[in-house]
Amino acid sequence: MGSEWVRRGRSRIHGGGLYARKPIPKGTRVIEYVGERITKAEALRREQRRLAAGGSVYVFELNARYDIDGDVPWNLARLINHSCEGNCETDIIRGHIWIIASRDIAAGEELSYDYGFDYAEWRNHPCRCGSPKCVGYIVHQKHRWRVRKILKAERAASARAIRQKNAGASAASARRTRCASRP
Ligand SMILES: [Zn+2]
Repeated sequence: MGSEWVRRGRSRIHGGGLYARKPIPKGTRVIEYVGERITKAEALRREQRRLAAGGSVYVFELNARYDIDGDVPWNLARLINHSCEGNCETDIIRGHIWIIASRDIAAGEELSYDYGFDYAEWRNHPCRCGSPKCVGYIVHQKHRWRVRKILKAERAASARAIRQKNAGASAASARRTRCASRP
């Protein structure tokens, strides 16, 4: 399913991507995320199968009962990458999933949005979106503060470990020096 607003291209973020064919005003329904409507149980089966195979999932939550499996060739919107500072957002309007411009987008800009992944899996999804706001992982915006906090604590712990190791090494070399200088 195409759209007058987009063209395919090689992504700066990852693999293929979608680009603005022309300037897109904020609030525009850029492209619909289409696919096969499946039950939650079927969605879970497909998700597990694809994750086990190391692939992408492409399952989009539609409502309490159904999901959309966007892994079909006619779903161009599946090419849109995640960004920690995207220019689009998603909305479900009368049973249709839309990718909507969250700000004015210039011609030639790559489209992206927040995939909104669960907190539980953040370490499995490194992010290379290149945004100054990038957390380093693909995770829903509302969880990013927690991920940042954990990463900061880990960095501090590893810096402490390095300082301790260096302090230990210099103490050892001081001991060696003292021994060597003994008559
Ligand atoms: Zn990122």
